Amino acid sequence: MLFEASRAKAVDKLNHFVENNLSEYSRLRNFDFGPDNRSNISCLSPYITHGVINELEVINKSLKKLSFVKNEKFIQEVLWRVYWKGWLELRPNVWSDYLIELKKLRNEFKDNQNYIDAIEGKTNIECFNQWISELKENNYLHNHTRMWFASIWIFTLELPWQLGAEFFLQHLYDGDPASNTLGWRWVAGVQTQGKHYLASEWNIKKFTNNRFKDIKLNENATPKVSGKSYPKIEQDFNNPQNLEEKNLLIFENNLSFEITDFKENKFKKIYIISNKNEGRSIKLSEKLIKFKSLLIEDQEQRLKDKSIDCEVVNISEIKNIENYYSLYPAVGENLDYLNSNNLKMNFLYRNLDQFSWKYCNKGFFNFKNYIPKIISTFN
Ligand SMILES: Cc1cc2nc3c(=O)[nH]c(=O)nc-3n(C[C@H](O)[C@H](O)[C@H](O)COP(=O)(O)OP(=O)(O)OC[C@H]3O[C@@H](n4cnc5c(N)ncnc54)[C@H](O)[C@@H]3O)c2cc1C
Repeated sequence: MLFEASRAKAVDKLNHFVENNLSEYSRLRNFDFGPDNRSNISCLSPYITHGVINELEVINKSLKKLSFVKNEKFIQEVLWRVYWKGWLELRPNVWSDYLIELKKLRNEFKDNQNYIDAIEGKTNIECFNQWISELKENNYLHNHTRMWFASIWIFTLELPWQLGAEFFLQHLYDGDPASNTLGWRWVAGVQTQGKHYLASEWNIKKFTNNRFKDIKLNENATPKVSGKSYPKIEQDFNNPQNLEEKNLLIFENNLSFEITDFKENKFKKIYIISNKNEGRSIKLSEKLIKFKSLLIEDQEQRLKDKSIDCEVVNISEIKNIENYYSLYPAVGENLDYLNSNNLKMNFLYRNLDQFSWKYCNKGFFNFKNYIPKIISTFN
């Protein structure tokens, strides 16, 4: 399976999926037919994560093909990402605590044979080993497989979820602090406290079309317990009333300036910020860094084609740039870098996020009630 690193290819993928496969999405989405047969799902997450295409563009295109009622499941999934982001924005300590715990666990587990066997795909669980190679080779796993993978990691292999979440972030082309950290917390049973996700042999067999035999799992484990709770922190995500003509910084989550809410504004120069591991506490695989670099180059080229003054700079160069706004990088490594280097913020938030994040107080089932309102506001 191949993810070509350009906006043109992402838009092609979106159009092809909507035209040919969207109508069967809700019936087939839970099946993992293997890496050579991914037509039942969109495989758009590597592009949406990097802002190469955005959620509204995807939803609007899908609504041109199918009505809201026929398309509700797909729209819900697309907005699930916005919900996880908002949930984490309101509780950023979940991310900072995760990094603190991870640092400690990395040390504790660096010579642990179970851990080494797991990340090398040498366990006695065939499907798990195959998913490890798939993740390293294709940098993508199906959603259901991510759930089984995380559940086996935590409850059968008895490894800490924090290390599994790190392994995903190192390899997934769509690796995202919110969807990933909260996805792993949810499987472990610490996101919705007391509710975990337990993978089972029959479920894996059914939804992989019996591609795997003999799957011996711990199907009776109890949820993990966390002593910590994370009350919501009140925050403003306001933009300045009038934008002055300053420079603009774009991070890796907004790599299509031309579809942002600020595309009509005038900026002196656009700086596309590249973060090739030196500014990260989780070191990404070479393939993932390469994928990000190609997406950055593609954005640079598109801006140049429109005669917009722009430059790709390393994150360590931000200190030399004056008088700028930045498209909000969201909770994660780039924001951590700005904070820890005392760099000026002046963030610009997306309209969709400003509007939707206020509904991220409670669980997704509550958020779902606001989806029609979100759609009617932006469609
Ligand atoms: C343990 C675990 C870790 C995960 N880590 C990540 C991650 O790092 N980055 C990431 O983007 N997603 C993550 N997910 C969510 C989900 O698995 C992927 O977004 C999805 O598999 C992407 O494939 P797709 O584009 O074909 O999805 P589709 O089924 O075609 O869905 C369309 C879009 O909806 C969004 N979406 C779908 N399911 C979810 C979901 N459960 N949560 C949030 N958004 C969703 C994605 O943007 C996706 O591109 C994780 C899920 C789990 C259980």
